[in-house]
Amino acid sequence: MIKRTLLFFLLVSLSITVLSFIKDSKEPGNKQQKVIKTIVIDPGHGGSDAGARGQYSYEKDICLAVSLKVGAMIEKEFPDVKVLYTRKVDSYPALHARANFANENKGDLFLCIHVNSAPSQRKSELTGYKTVTYYVGKGKNRKKKTKEVPQYRYYTVPSAAKGTETYIWGAGKQDDKELAVRENASMLKEENYKETYGEMDPTSPEFIALSLLKTKQYFKRSATLAGFVQDEFVKVGRVDRDVKQRPVGIWVLQATAMPSVLVETGFISNPEEEKYLNSEEGQVEISACIVRALKKYSNWLEEKQEEEKKDEKEKDKEKTTNGQSATAETRKFLEDFDKKEKKLRGE
Ligand SMILES: [Zn+2]
Repeated sequence: MIKRTLLFFLLVSLSITVLSFIKDSKEPGNKQQKVIKTIVIDPGHGGSDAGARGQYSYEKDICLAVSLKVGAMIEKEFPDVKVLYTRKVDSYPALHARANFANENKGDLFLCIHVNSAPSQRKSELTGYKTVTYYVGKGKNRKKKTKEVPQYRYYTVPSAAKGTETYIWGAGKQDDKELAVRENASMLKEENYKETYGEMDPTSPEFIALSLLKTKQYFKRSATLAGFVQDEFVKVGRVDRDVKQRPVGIWVLQATAMPSVLVETGFISNPEEEKYLNSEEGQVEISACIVRALKKYSNWLEEKQEEEKKDEKEKDKEKTTNGQSATAETRKFLEDFDKKEKKLRGE
């Protein structure tokens, strides 16, 4: 009896182990993710462009230090992801060179690291009164008088602004982004792309429709990642200044043919945050937040791809009953394009 019970428990525990192993292998976190292959990190400013200045530090140095930490953490957490940097030293690559670098390396994500700054406020304080002598009238009527004039001390105080914000390109820049997507379609880089792709002419309506679709997809992805980044900052107690769209000033965000975000990691103009941004603990905390957000993003992308696959199957059923619609045609085109792109990359 004892032996039988023992055998029973042994069998149960064995099957639990086997089952959990099977289940684990299906979980997205446990298998190597395939959705992100290359991340291009862009540490803001550099070289002669110091960026914002604090009381004792420069933005460019914090950008580089945080970027290198983020990159090292990505390499540890995602061993299959290639991490590239637009700069690894105190130099200034031109903005177009940064965008070209990301496009040429077919990045799946462009991540800009910056530090924010707000102008200090000019204030005044009454320090006392000064007696000033003056005269009124002329000749015999000339009289000496005095008056009290208030005296002020003028000084500046650092802005109280603090916290993080993450930017995506402005909605008004969607056309520029679409152009970057179209011009950098990997198939166009092929020498004999016409022979390979036949009717896929970059000026054709299908091609433009495709790059518009891709642009919309990149926008959704960028906004989602930006939201995840802010969520992680909130969890460690940073002040949340939200996901924002900046219509001007972040040219690289719309010049890169991939999802792209710019993280403003804190305010160098705020003495408390300047200290945090320059500290090892601060930099590690910021980097860990960004990498945790990237993990969520990669899981989200994988889920999304699974959904899309299911949708495709549903739509295929529809197609057979309703005939091929215009959207189905575009979807087919997109699918073929992705297949060819994957083939080119040797997947
Ligand atoms: Zn900056």
